[in-house]
Amino acid sequence: MQQSLCKLHESIEQCTHCSLHTTRRHAIIGEGNPRAPIVVIGEAPGAAEDKIGRPFVGKSGQLLEKIFAACGFSRQHHIFLTNIVRCRPPDNRVPSEAEVQACIPFLRRQIQLIDPQIIITLGGTALQRYMEDKNLRVSGLRGQWLTKEKPLVMPVYHPAALLRNPRLKPIAWADFKKVIDKYRELVDQDHIAPHY
Ligand code: SF4
Repeated sequence: MQQSLCKLHESIEQCTHCSLHTTRRHAIIGEGNPRAPIVVIGEAPGAAEDKIGRPFVGKSGQLLEKIFAACGFSRQHHIFLTNIVRCRPPDNRVPSEAEVQACIPFLRRQIQLIDPQIIITLGGTALQRYMEDKNLRVSGLRGQWLTKEKPLVMPVYHPAALLRNPRLKPIAWADFKKVIDKYRELVDQDHIAPHY
């Protein structure tokens, strides 16, 4: 499994399947435990991620780290962080249809190899593209488990939305508490979450 994941990650790093490869500094493969019980999916790398070559290292990523810490989750043990597309769209625009279609097979394969119990989608693009339904809205579905079988899918607000509108933070925390409950049910009944 590890070898397959390494090969996949090599393919992502060298990928030229869509035009985003011409403007990227780094293709972001993802980060975390390759056997993580939880995979977290965002939309695309931003400027900080493209510069450093790691996912979720900008302001949104820092807020996400705080949320993970409150949940008792770490990138090293519990989480694998990834995105719908792996190269930064210029000016942080939403990835185009062609870019998503070129890139999403990497995500499907990555999830197949990691084999998580739980998937968290951050924001609308991740929700719609992972679930293959452009009509889905985070505001209507957040906090609900969207699948009945493994991997269970939980849509939550993107941390960038929480930074723009802090009134959404308690709502997002309620959703993450459901993830903690499910993690205790499926993975570790003794899991300690410092704030729950
Ligand atoms: Fe390849 Fe995805 Fe980067 Fe496009 S965004 S070049 S498909 S890795």
